[in-house]
Amino acid sequence: MPGGGANCGAEDGRPAAPPRVKVLLPLPLHGALDYGLPDGLAMPEPGRFVRVTLGSRRLAGVVWDGDPGAGIPAERLKPLREILPTPPLRPELRRFIDRVAAYTLAPSGAVLRMAMSVEEALLLPPPRRVCAATPAGLAALAESGTGKKLTAARRRLLATLHDGGAASLAEAARRAGCGAAVVRGLIAAGYAEERMLPGEPPAPPAIVWQADGPTLSPDQQQAAHRLLERTGTAGFSVTVLDGVTGSGKTETYFAAIAAALDAGRQVLVLLPEIALGAQWLERFRRRFGAEPAQWHSDITPAARRDTWRAVASGHARIVVGARSALFLPFPELGLIVVDEEHDPSYKQDDGVAYQARDMAVLRASLARIPIVLVSATPSLETVVNIARGRYERVHLPRRHAEAALPEIKLIDMRRERAEAGRFLSAPLVEAAAQTLAAGEQVLLFLNRRGYAPLTLCRACGHRMQCPSCTAWLVEHRFTGRLQCHHCGHAEKVPALCPGCLASGSLVPCGPGVERLREEVAARFPAARTALMVSDLLPGPRAAAELAEAMVAHRYDVLIGTQIVAKGHHFPMLTLVGVVDADLGLTGGDLRAGERTYQMLHQVAGRAGRAERPGRVLIQTYMPEQPVMQALAAGDRDGFLEAEASARRAAGLPPFGRLAALIVSAADPDSADFAARALARAAPQLPGVWVFGPAPAPLAILRGRHRRRFLVKAERGVNVQAVLRDWLGRVRIGGAARLQVDIDPYSFV
Ligand code: ADP
Ligand code: ZN
Ligand code: ZN
Repeated sequence: MPGGGANCGAEDGRPAAPPRVKVLLPLPLHGALDYGLPDGLAMPEPGRFVRVTLGSRRLAGVVWDGDPGAGIPAERLKPLREILPTPPLRPELRRFIDRVAAYTLAPSGAVLRMAMSVEEALLLPPPRRVCAATPAGLAALAESGTGKKLTAARRRLLATLHDGGAASLAEAARRAGCGAAVVRGLIAAGYAEERMLPGEPPAPPAIVWQADGPTLSPDQQQAAHRLLERTGTAGFSVTVLDGVTGSGKTETYFAAIAAALDAGRQVLVLLPEIALGAQWLERFRRRFGAEPAQWHSDITPAARRDTWRAVASGHARIVVGARSALFLPFPELGLIVVDEEHDPSYKQDDGVAYQARDMAVLRASLARIPIVLVSATPSLETVVNIARGRYERVHLPRRHAEAALPEIKLIDMRRERAEAGRFLSAPLVEAAAQTLAAGEQVLLFLNRRGYAPLTLCRACGHRMQCPSCTAWLVEHRFTGRLQCHHCGHAEKVPALCPGCLASGSLVPCGPGVERLREEVAARFPAARTALMVSDLLPGPRAAAELAEAMVAHRYDVLIGTQIVAKGHHFPMLTLVGVVDADLGLTGGDLRAGERTYQMLHQVAGRAGRAERPGRVLIQTYMPEQPVMQALAAGDRDGFLEAEASARRAAGLPPFGRLAALIVSAADPDSADFAARALARAAPQLPGVWVFGPAPAPLAILRGRHRRRFLVKAERGVNVQAVLRDWLGRVRIGGAARLQVDIDPYSFV
C-alpha cells in the first residue's frame, strides 16, 4: 500500500512503528532529527545525551524538546543506538541554545556544538578494566597466616587489593612488586577477577574557598554592599559595576563571588582573551586560596574534557573563561560576571556570530540569576540600558588608596612631525627621558604587530600584497617573514622586487611594535626594553612571566599592542605614550570612536597606579576629534552622550538595529550571482532599509570573494523575522556561502 500512513503499519501486518525521539546533533543543521526508539530502551528525557548514526558516522547528540515530526517514514527511521550516562543538558541550557540560534540565525546544531565542545567520544570516558579480590581470594588471604596455599607474591597481591582497593592489572602488579603473570595466575586461580569500572574519576576533594579579602575602603564598601544586595537575592538582575581603572572593581566583585560560592552556587567569570589573564588568575589564587577552572581556546583537549565534566557534575564551582565558557553545562549556576564588558573580543564574527556579553545577560535571565557587567568604560549599549532603567549602575568613583588618575595630554603630530623613519615626537622622547632618569617605567602603546604594516618597492612602487586577501603583507623581523594578518599566509621577504626585479629596493613603510623597539634602542641605548605582543608570547605562562618581570622592574620600557592595556598593574609605570592614536578611527566602523576611547582610556589607566603620579601623552593627527578631546578632558560621560545622540540621529544601534549579510564564493561571478539573487528578493518594508550588495572592504579573504549587504531597521522591527523570511525565499547556489551577522561589530 504505497503512500499508506506510517501509523497503520500494525494493521497491514508490518510491525508497529517505533516511538520517535527528537535528537539535536552538534552539526550545522537547523533543527533536531527524528530517530526511532528501539525495543528495550526506555524513552529518554529531553536533555539526555544519546548516540546515533548519521550516514556512516556515529555521533553523540542531545534529546531535544518538542514533538517529533512525521517527516521521515517510520520504516526509514534510524534507531537510537545508546543513551549515554552523561548528566543531561538542563532545560535552561537547551532553551538558551534555542534562543541563541533564533537570535543569531545560526543553525541550532552549531550552537549545540559550542555547548558540547568536546569530541563526542570524550563525553563518555571508556570504562576502566580493574582486578579485584574475590571472596575466595579474601578467604585465602585470611587463612594465609597459617602458611598454607598462597605464595608470598600472591599474598602480597591479595593484601594490596584488599587494602588499596581494585586496581588495573599493571597497577596491582606494581603495588605488590610482582610481574603481571602473577596477577593473571591469581585470576586463573579464582582468587581475583576482572571487573569494569565506570571511567569517571572519583570526585576531587571539595575546595574550601578562603573567605576574607582586604578591608574595603568606604567607597568600595558601599558599592560591595549594593552589589551583594543585588546578587544575593535570587532572581534575574543586571548590575553594572562602573569605576575608573584601579578603583577596586575586581576587589568588589570578588566579594560577590565569595558570597555566591558560600551559598553553594557555581560562578562564571568571563574575561576577554583569558589566555592573557595571568595576573588575574594570580590575584584570584591569592584571594581565594585555590585555582578556578579555566576555559579558553588554549587549553588541551584533555583539560577541556575534564573541565567540561567537572562543570557538568558540579565539581567545578568557579570557571573563568573566554566567551565560549558561556555554553558550559553548569547545573547550579548562581552568578555571572562579565569583566571588561565593553571589550570587542566578546563579539565572535565567524561561525555562530554572537555577542557574548549580550548572550550572558540572556543566559542569566533564563537561569533567573544575577549578572554583573564590569568596566571603566561601559559600552554605549550598556550605558543606554542603564538610562532605560533595565540595568542598575553601582559606581566606584575614585582610585584606591588615593592614587591619582593620570594627566592626559595630546601631542599634535601635524606640528610635531617625527623625523623620517622615526615615530616618536620630541615631547614624547623628552618625557620618556625624564621618566627613565627618575628610575621609573615607560609604556609605549602601538596597536600594530610586526615591523612594518607595508613593504614597498622604492624603484617601481610595487606593494607586497597577500595572494589570497585584499590586504598588505606585514613584515615581521623576528621571523624574517611577510605575513597576512587575515589568513596567516607567510612568505620570506624576497631578495628582488617581484614587480621590477630590482634588488635591495623593498623598504618598510610605517611602524609596527618591532620597529618602534629599534627606535627606542637607538634613542635610549641603556634602557632595557621588552615587547608585549601576542605573536611573540607563546602562551599565558610567557605573558605572566613578562608581566612579573615588569613588576620586578627588570625592564624600563615596555612596548606593546592592545594586550598591554588589559588588567596589568605595574606600580613603577608612570608614563604611557600612545604612538598612533588615530589607527582605530579609519574605516566605516560605527563603534570606531567608542572603541578608540575605551582602548586609549584603558591604556592610559596603566599609568601611575601606585604612589607615583602618572602621565599620558597621546600622539594624534586629529587632536580636534571629539574622542581625543574627551580623552584629554577626562570627560567620558560627555563623550558617551555625544556618541549616543549621533547614533540616535542616525538610527544606529542601540537606537536601531543592524544586520550584515556576507556572501562569499571562490570566484567573483558566483559571489555576484548569489548577491544579485538576494538583492532581487530583498524586503521592502516600512522601517527597514537594505544597503548593498557592495564588495566588502576586505573584498577577497582567504581566496573567497566577498559581497556585503547591510540591513538597517527601526528598533521595533523584528529583524530576525525579516531576515528569515528574506533568506527563506532565496536559494544560494552551492558555490556561494552566506554568513549572517546580527548586530555586526566588524564591517570589513
Ligand atoms: P580595578 O579592577 O577597578 O582596576 P583593582 O580591583 O584591580 O581595580 O584594584 C587596583 C589595585 O588596588 C589592586 O592592586 C588591588 O589589589 C588594590 N586594591 C583595591 N582595593 C583594595 C583594598 N580595599 N585593599 C587593598 N588593596 C586594594
Ligand atoms: Zn619594484
Ligand atoms: Zn591573506
